[in-house]
Formats: sequence, structure tokens, C-alpha cells
Amino acid sequence: SDTILEVKNLKKHFPIKGGIFGKVVNSVKAVDGLNFEVKRGETLGLVGESGCGKSTTGRLLLRLLEATEGEVIFEGQNILDLDKKEMRDLRREMQMIFQDPYASLNPRMTVGEIIAEPMKIHGIGTPKDREKKVKDLLDRVGLQPNYAKRYPHEFSGGQRQRVGIARALAVDPKIIVCDEPVSALDVSVQAQVVNLMQDLQEELGLTYIFIAHDLSVVRHISDRVAVMYLGRMVELADKDELYNNPKHPYTKALLSAIPIPDPEKTREKIILEGDVPSPINPPSGCSFHTRCPFAKDRCKTEVPKFEEKVDGHFTACHYSDEI
Ligand code: SF4
Ligand code: MG
Repeated sequence: SDTILEVKNLKKHFPIKGGIFGKVVNSVKAVDGLNFEVKRGETLGLVGESGCGKSTTGRLLLRLLEATEGEVIFEGQNILDLDKKEMRDLRREMQMIFQDPYASLNPRMTVGEIIAEPMKIHGIGTPKDREKKVKDLLDRVGLQPNYAKRYPHEFSGGQRQRVGIARALAVDPKIIVCDEPVSALDVSVQAQVVNLMQDLQEELGLTYIFIAHDLSVVRHISDRVAVMYLGRMVELADKDELYNNPKHPYTKALLSAIPIPDPEKTREKIILEGDVPSPINPPSGCSFHTRCPFAKDRCKTEVPKFEEKVDGHFTACHYSDEI
């Protein structure tokens, strides 16, 4: 079908223990009720300030973290219902590329061993087959096949991220969660890595969830973009619709911070006051009300529903039609 992944009421609350008995006294509402779909072959950008729950969401989608509540339906099956063995088999289809190409590669393993490891874990091929596949993958990500014998420390950040991409591709996944894959890299190599990822997506028919902390990074690569604030999604739309016609005040504020390439156009300026509140006791009602220049009394008590306002354009704001 058109939908590869469906997320329903997904939550992750981390308990906080306190007192001499170590009882659970509160919780960090890292992810607090997400509902969205991912279409086959698309790139869904997932954007928000640090602490908004975007990395936690990425991990929940692959079940690298256990959800507190909700469903993650991959190709019609709720993966949160699977047992360990079933989940291990399924993980072939769902891979992750991590933010830090320095920390995510084992320094004691050769690049060839690193890329072959997921195949070994899943029992794919003979050692000879895997050696051949490693060389193919290195070539695919723009590295020389003889790099397989070298160690991660011999490479630059951009090259290491290419190794991370090759490792994710080794088991022929359908969907890859990319957690800020270029934010640790020099600006000069960011575009190269993003372009490589786009080429691979086209060649291999991959679906990406691309996590980033600002809207400028995901603009180029995304088909649709979702904006998160304090564990919830506040807006989701086709890329151009979101950038040209944002409906949520938070999205408008994030866009205000990005320069507009076309000098003919102007954009409403919304400057955010204050910091993101703590996800331990997030503000009541609309959790953005403490920073929103349009907040009214109702916003303090009533949680706005995440609703489709026009075709494919979802937002969670009581007043998005008037603002
Ligand atoms: Fe602002 Fe109210 Fe809309 Fe929340 S619901 S974004 S506080 S206007
Ligand atoms: Mg993060």
C-alpha cells in the first residue's frame, strides 16, 4: 500500500524516581501522543528544538526503545506486539543512521567488519558473500572498496558517515531513520552526504525519516515535514505547503529564524521569548501557550487536537485559521 508506517497515540514517559524508597514520583513526557503516517518512498522530515522528543521518536519507531503506550504499524503489523525473535527479523527492514559518525562506529573493528556486522547478525550470506557485498556497498557510498581493511579513525567525519550509511544498507532495509545524520559534519560536506542519501533513496526505493533540529536542513531532502514541540506534533504538511503557508505559530517562529532566499518575498516575523519548558511538567492545555504570542485563555486549559485543516495539512492550534 501507499503507507509503510502508521503511528497511533505513541507515548514514551521516562519515570523519575525519588525519595529513600526510590518510588516513581514523576515522569519525563518525552513523547506524548503522536499520530502520523509515513508514505512508501517518501522522506518525512522531523524537526524541533533539542528536547522536543524527535530522537526518542526515531528510536521508538525502530523499537530500540520500548514505548509506554501506542502502536507502530509497519506494513500492517503492530511491531510493539512482536516478540524478541520476530522483532530481530523485522529489524532488517528498519535501520538507523546515527548523528555522531565518531561515536557510532566501533574503533576496534575494521570498516569491512563494521559494514558486515548486520549481515552476520541476521545470518545473511557466507563470509565470501559478505566480503563482496561490503565492497559493493563501499563503492555505492562513494568510498574505495579497499578501505574495508582500514579502521574508522583513519577517516574524516564525512567518510565515517558514509560508512554508517553503508552499514545501514547492508541488510537491504525498506525504511531508514536518519537522526541528524549531517549535523556533526562540516558544512562543506553536509550537502555531499545529503545528496548521496537522495541518490541512494532513488536507486533503492528507500523510505526516510530524517530528523533535524532546524527547518533549513530538511527543506532540500524532505517530501513532507513534521514539526514537534514538547513531545507532540504541532504541524505536518507537504514541504512547500509548510514553508509557504505555515499554520502553527511555532512553525512560523522557526521559519522566521531562516533567511528567505527570494528578496521579493517577506515573511511575518515571530520571535520566540523564553526557553522550551521542561517536559517533566509541561504547560497545561496547549503546551506552547507559555511562548505563543497569540495565546488566549482557552489555550491554557484545552489541548488543541492535531487535525487535518486542509488536504494533507495537519496542525494543532485552536486559532490556526485566524492567525
Ligand atoms: Fe498559540 Fe493557542 Fe494556538 Fe497554542 S492553541 S499555538 S497557545 S494560539
Ligand atoms: Mg537528538
